[in-house]
Amino acid sequence: MTILDGKKLSQKIKAEVKKEVEELKKEGFIPGLAVILVGDDPASQTYVKMKSNACKQTGIYSVVHEFPETITEKELLSTIDMINENPNIHGLLIQLPLPKHIDTTKILERVSPDKDVDGFHPYNMGRLVEGLDTFAPCTPLGVMEIFKEYNIDVYGKDVCIVGASNIVGKPMWALLVNEMATVDICHIATKDLKEHTKRADIVIVGVGKPNLITADMVKEGVIVIDIGINKLPDGRLVGDVDFENVSKKASYITPVPGGVGPMTIAMLLKNTLKAAKKFKEAK
Ligand code: NAD
Repeated sequence: MTILDGKKLSQKIKAEVKKEVEELKKEGFIPGLAVILVGDDPASQTYVKMKSNACKQTGIYSVVHEFPETITEKELLSTIDMINENPNIHGLLIQLPLPKHIDTTKILERVSPDKDVDGFHPYNMGRLVEGLDTFAPCTPLGVMEIFKEYNIDVYGKDVCIVGASNIVGKPMWALLVNEMATVDICHIATKDLKEHTKRADIVIVGVGKPNLITADMVKEGVIVIDIGINKLPDGRLVGDVDFENVSKKASYITPVPGGVGPMTIAMLLKNTLKAAKKFKEAK
């Protein structure tokens, strides 16, 4: 059994991004990322801090626009318009979730598709489904990067994705289908989850429920990607997979923490660099 070390891979990618940023800086060009953070959710604050630190480490300029929970949709939209127009900012991400009184779809659709480094704009999502060049969402993109690093060829493989959100499961499906995998996508309404996971060569789970995937649900030699992040009452961080028992049957498995999580941030840096380079080339 091989542990798919996302932490190590993310460091390698960060070093590559840093090198490219240094080259751009020599030409007087600095890639920039803006983050919009609304409210005081501690998890969102932690994620934003991690993203800002990663920018700092690689030389990407980053700025966080923080707003109280009470901000209006109109104020948020005008901030996005301002960032869309700013030539020093090439990537813009809205940290989710947003407060209930704000229409998340409306906000995400306002981000310029050229600066949409999270890949959540329907325009980019549509291009992703069509297999065109786009910004793919960072978490599924990070999973594809893990496959590449470990020479796991998904062509013709039976893949079962558990979790069908717009930011994880659905773009994961598109990326895999574009690489000619046969993909099953399961969710809360799936009748018999085990029937789907059991026959898969690769199981990818992003739900948010500890121990959702147990050893009896997977076949011998399965490749397991655990996207879930759950904080247990004792403070431990775990995924959605019963790691101890499933790892005994798996050929490859991601740990939590240290698997997909760090890759998500690495892909954000990569997408920001890509957006910056596109902007520079278009000038
Ligand atoms: P979400 O709540 O938007 O979606 C959850 C999905 O799981 C839905 O499609 C739902 O139908 C499905 N689901 C719920 N219960 C199920 C069950 N019992 N069986 C099968 N499917 C079920 O969540 P999300 O934003 O997609 O996040 C999912 C998980 O991934 C969370 O734990 C989140 O913290 C984690 N996550 C991790 C990263 C990372 O970088 N590692 C990034 C994003 C999300």
